[in-house]
Amino acid sequence: MTGKCRIWRSMLMRWLCRIGRAIQQRQVPRRIEERCAELILSDDKLRDVCQRLLVELNRGLNKDTNKEATVKCFPTYVRELPNGEECGKFLALDLGGTNFRVLLIELGPHIFHMESKIFAVPQSVMLGPGTGLFDHIAECLATFMHENKVDVSPLPLGFTFSFPCSQEGLTKARLATWTKGFKCSGVEGEDVVKLLQEAIARRGDIKIDVMAVLNDTTGTLMACAWKNPACRIGLILGTGINACYVERLENVQLWDGDFDEPNQVVINTELGAFGDNGTLEFIRTEYDRTIDQHSLNPGRQLFEKMISGMYMGEVTRLVLAQLTREGLLFDGMGPEVLFEPGQFFTKYVSEIESDKKGEYTCCRQVLEELGYEDASDEDCANVRYICEAVSRRAAHIAAAAVACLLNKMGQKHVTVAVDGSLYRFHPHFHDLMVEKIRQLINPGLTFDLMLSEDGSGRGAALVAAVAVRIGSLAAR
Ligand code: ADP
Ligand code: MG
Repeated sequence: MTGKCRIWRSMLMRWLCRIGRAIQQRQVPRRIEERCAELILSDDKLRDVCQRLLVELNRGLNKDTNKEATVKCFPTYVRELPNGEECGKFLALDLGGTNFRVLLIELGPHIFHMESKIFAVPQSVMLGPGTGLFDHIAECLATFMHENKVDVSPLPLGFTFSFPCSQEGLTKARLATWTKGFKCSGVEGEDVVKLLQEAIARRGDIKIDVMAVLNDTTGTLMACAWKNPACRIGLILGTGINACYVERLENVQLWDGDFDEPNQVVINTELGAFGDNGTLEFIRTEYDRTIDQHSLNPGRQLFEKMISGMYMGEVTRLVLAQLTREGLLFDGMGPEVLFEPGQFFTKYVSEIESDKKGEYTCCRQVLEELGYEDASDEDCANVRYICEAVSRRAAHIAAAAVACLLNKMGQKHVTVAVDGSLYRFHPHFHDLMVEKIRQLINPGLTFDLMLSEDGSGRGAALVAAVAVRIGSLAAR
């Protein structure tokens, strides 16, 4: 074949493929597009979200406005990030994620070794007296230390306690309120480190030094910063959404500690509560309001309810159910479970969107799992369109929050550490966020998003390790 023929042939093939794809990718009816339009946020609206979050962050950081601020901006008392010189053995406890875990981590130059064990927390303990919970934690810790033969000399420990706390020092945190299904009496308002130490003392068979108490967001930042010195933001996109970042002390009017170097502190924003004062009403929809009304905490965590893994499946279900009722989907007769709260999981959104464009294998599987056997290509294309609209909205508003922090910090290059199953498993969340952050950040700034696996475990050990390193420097 001559060169010219070959070029013609490849052009023809490309053309045919394109026509084939266009036929395969069904057009979504205009009426469905119109009904989903409120879920698509323009760049102007997202810039407005950035602006409003900046206002709320500053209200949180300011001593005079913090009390009524919705975004609390708790200083974590973590001032130093890891520099890779940490070494030794460290214990970590991780309570408040999907599982309760105990970890043993060994750090050294080019060494990272981790043992960990998951322990169950029975429902009766989650809802019983606080002493019972901390006795249970101490018992799991003792079992783990005996099994790993580290019960002889006291080891430093980092405690990840991922519930809203107001922190009064690196090792002092008062629980503001229980969340995530815990409701142990006698803990709210108390210092959880003290409760842990008392439970360990009651046993008398192990010795530890609690070096730090933190939440999973700070842990995520620390775990990434150990490898990457540009890391300055930690972001959780899992059951909930939260972010922390490194702030200059001069911007933290709340700060009641010393002003020694380094002149910075990690701020736990608790930005899941952004919008609780009405500032996000311009983008909230009837679906968001329904979710909130039926939630355990109406009126609270409104930003979180538009984004996080705990709610995104439910937002999608509400849109699917509404459009089915209006006769726009499944010829008005969709799977029954679409009309039952909580029956459309966030992981379904990831599965449906992981099909190649124009293919519907995973989408059909999900619909079959929901009891709908005969989905047409048209049904699948419409369901996918709605999933994309909901997840794109979530990724874009999460991007607006990150862009707000990047613009506020104004550092030339920042790495953002991200943890959580929504970010990890949704096939397009990362790309959607990167594209949108790029459009929203100020000129001259650059960033990258890095998956920081197991920040709540490794990060706790690293905070303890940094505290030991600083302590030993100070003692010299
Ligand atoms: P946690 O935040 O409790 O530490 P995870 O980071 O694992 O736990 O997040 C759990 C959340 O992630 C759940 O709300 C769940 O709906 C969501 N999730 C689990 N699997 C997926 C998935 N494949 N795609 C998107 N979201 C998921
Ligand atoms: Mg987690």
